[in-house]
Amino acid sequence: MSGKRTFTMIKPDAVENGHIGAILEQIATAGFRIVAMKLTQMTKNDAEQFYAIHKERPFFGELVEFMTRGPIVAAVLEKENAVEDFRTLIGATNPAEAAEGTIRKKYATSIGENAVHGSDSDENAEIEAAFHFAGREQF
Ligand code: UDP
Repeated sequence: MSGKRTFTMIKPDAVENGHIGAILEQIATAGFRIVAMKLTQMTKNDAEQFYAIHKERPFFGELVEFMTRGPIVAAVLEKENAVEDFRTLIGATNPAEAAEGTIRKKYATSIGENAVHGSDSDENAEIEAAFHFAGREQF
């Protein structure tokens, strides 16, 4: 399994703006298989834990506020080279710097409200997938 899976969230801004379908379509067209998926809402405690690595950063409070303000789509995706290829598909953290055609370029509104999450390593992909899904929910 290692190296073939990544974890993503379609963030509250993209859900609010009606982009779930278009984003999933782009993910599927890029060759990712959905192995787990759900519409859910993170609690403050969830978001603080999920983004604990950023807890000393100045944007942490805003990030937690944003990520808990409405539903998200959480999903686990499978593909060769999943983590790296998915980061390429979503583009840079700041949509102003994201490559043309990337998900963030098309759907993100700011560096904070940037439409999607993608794991940054195989190790974090596994931790993040386990944060949202039981083993039996991952196919
Ligand atoms: N973020 C923010 N302000 C910043 C940098 C990041 O609000 O200056 C938010 C943004 O939603 C980003 C998340 O914090 O996606 C995690 O940041 P990271 O640097 O890990 O970016 P990512 O891996 O999501 O591209």
